[in-house]
Formats: sequence, structure tokens, C-alpha cells
Amino acid sequence: MEGITLEEAVELLLSRASSPAGTDEIPLSEALGRTLAEDMRAEFDNPPFDRSPLDGYALIAADTAGATKESPVRLRIVGEECAGDFFSGTIHSGEALRIMTGGAMPQGTDAVIRQEDVQATGEVLSVPYALRHHENYCFAGEDVKQGALLVRQGEILDAPRIGVLASQGRAKAKVFRRPRIVLGGTGDELLQPGEPLAPGKIYNSNLYLLSARLQELGAETIILGIIPDEPQRASAELRPHQDWADLLLTTGGVSVGKKDIMHEVIRLLPARRLFWGVQMKPGYPLLAYEGDRSLGVALSGNPFAACTTFELIARPLIDKLAGRLPRPLPRVKATLKDAFPKESRGRRFIRARFDVVAGTVSLPGQHSSGSLFSAVGCNALIDLPPGTGKLLPGDRVEVLLL
Ligand code: AMP
Ligand code: MG
Repeated sequence: MEGITLEEAVELLLSRASSPAGTDEIPLSEALGRTLAEDMRAEFDNPPFDRSPLDGYALIAADTAGATKESPVRLRIVGEECAGDFFSGTIHSGEALRIMTGGAMPQGTDAVIRQEDVQATGEVLSVPYALRHHENYCFAGEDVKQGALLVRQGEILDAPRIGVLASQGRAKAKVFRRPRIVLGGTGDELLQPGEPLAPGKIYNSNLYLLSARLQELGAETIILGIIPDEPQRASAELRPHQDWADLLLTTGGVSVGKKDIMHEVIRLLPARRLFWGVQMKPGYPLLAYEGDRSLGVALSGNPFAACTTFELIARPLIDKLAGRLPRPLPRVKATLKDAFPKESRGRRFIRARFDVVAGTVSLPGQHSSGSLFSAVGCNALIDLPPGTGKLLPGDRVEVLLL
């Protein structure tokens, strides 16, 4: 098998990809899935003040020494503080302050007793046991300390990270601009969904699958119509987008058939071929190229080949273009539940369902690279090294989790 290894292909593309050119300052409410463009440190301790973790009474623990149910310590309730209030006075020995969860600990106090544990009659509080110094006490900075690195440049803003930014009072986030991708499918046999089916034709499923995936990855995508299997016209469709796009992503036309136009398209664009052929099945005839400003990845048109090579090769590239830190797919060992009847001379990826509880993988009935439906519900790829024989239930395999 000629071509380069999968790892070489990824590395080569990453080495040609520049980091995102620009940044956007966007409202936090719109930041989900975007990539933070700067390290974000805590500007202040959070919580910003010592506070009560429960509804009860703030007091001085030493006052409660020796308290028992039978002979409780009596304190005088001097006031009340709810979350958001600020009691500016000082609590002296013999006093207590009614306090609600989240209320700032008043000066002088060092513990809180639960409301359910005490008797309060008018101004008199009966404390039935001794409290320890800092019992039921939440310290300023318990969550984060001033100066702590909270979110790193290149991390994706998910719900917890957005919450953390908000906890520091940030209303906006500085994020990298979205990667710009032009997506097209070559093939005279293709019809767009919505058009009536005709003899010899199939629907352009790749385009929809990949555009959905690009949406998930937060790309800004221009979707081309069907690109005809004619090099002049195909290159004319792609050429105008080369200045805008970070990546031209197409499917089809990359093998050695009569209509495998992408080799000629690259010459006409013009662009420079980076490599053709990746030592893996499915998706071997992947063609990567580079123009003045944009990169190009032309995937095989076979739907399963297209999605496998997309996940293994295009996705890491898109992450780099988005300014994201590398996110290698988790790799685990698992026990195969089904037989796989083919030998694998070269490296092969098969779609599978990984059961995280059992640590097993099961296979769908259909494995051909032209089959798409059998990928539904799959969450993993089994990575079979070159020279793997037929597989039986119980065999141990390497699995990449998607
Ligand atoms: P190609 O890579 O152009 O040789 O196409 C390989 C196989 O994938 C052929 O059976 C094509 O009809 C099919 N195919 C190509 N492009 C698409 C597409 N966009 N959606 C679904 N199937 C496709
Ligand atoms: Mg084709």
C-alpha cells in the first residue's frame, strides 16, 4: 500500500494550517462552543467573602463550649441577615446572628449552627451542642483563588466554563473567529434532497452529514451545490472561495476512475498537492492540497469513508484552524462481541458500538464503505492494525471513541 500513514497525514496538514487570524468579542450568552482566545484568570476570590453554607445562626464557637441538650448555652439573637444583605456590625461573645445560606459571615463569628438544631424563643437562642472553630463555614476563595487560571486559550467554551466566566463578572468572551469552510460534493450522479429521484442517481447525503458535523464543530460554512464531474467547471466553482476559506472540503472524485477529477481540479485552481493516499481503509484515496491561503481536503465519496476520514483527518485540522487545543480521540481496549469475517492486510477502521459499562464493542451488520445507515448509533471506530486476521467474539481490539 502506498500513501502515507494516518498520523503522517494529520501531522502534515496540521503543519500547514495557520492558527486563526482574528478574534471576536462576543456576549457570553452566545459563546457556547466557541474557542477562548486568551487565558482567563480569576480577578478576585470566589466566593468573594466568607459566607454561611446553610440557614441557621452565626456565632462564636468558643461560646458554645460545654453545651449539651440538657444544659444548652443561651445566646442573644441580635439581628438577621439574608443572602445579599450585609450585616456591618460585629458579633460579640454571647451573641448570635440569624443568617441564611449565602449570607456573609458577620465580623466576630466563626461558625454556624443549623436552624433545625436550635431553639429560638424571642431573642434567646438555645444551642444544644458545642461547635468547632469554622464548623459550617465557607471561606472566601473556596471555589477559586484570585490569579488562578480558570479557562485556557484554546479551550472550548462549554456550559461549566461559561458559568465560570460569568462567576467572574464577565459579560463578554474573547474568542477566535470560526473556521471558514467551503463544503461541496462532486458527482454527476448526485441529486439534492427535495429533487425527484431519477435512474442512476443518488442523493447527496455526504453534504448534509458533513455540514451537520461542521455545525457541531462551530465552523462557518459555505455550502456549494453539486459540483459536476468536469474539472474546468469544478475548479471554477471552488476557485472564488479560496481567499475566504480556511479549508475547501469536498467529497468524491479522488480515486483513479475516469471521473476522478480532483487531481486535475487541483492543477487548475491552481493548488499544490500535499499528499494523496492514506494507509487506511476506508477512505484511502484522500487528497490534500494547499493554495495560497487555504488548504484543501478531498475525501472519498463513499459515505462511510467520507465520515471516517472526516473524523480522523479533517476534524483535527478544523480544531487547529479554530485555535483549539488538540483533542485526540480517547483510545481504549475492548472485547469484541461479534465476529468480523474479513482479513485486514492494511490498517482498517470499522464502525462499532462501544458499551462503556461492559467494556465491549458490537458491530453493525453492514461494513461496506458505501453503507451509511449502519453507522447510525455507532459511537466508536475499531482500529485494526495491518495484518489482522479474521476476528472472533471475545477478541480484544483497540477502539477510538467518537
Ligand atoms: P467517488 O469517490 O466519487 O468515486 O464516489 C464513490 C462512491 O460514493 C460512489 O458510489 C458515489 O456515487 C458515492 N458518492 C459520491 N459522492 C456522494 C455523496 N455526496 N453522497 C452520497 N454518496 C456519494
Ligand atoms: Mg465521483
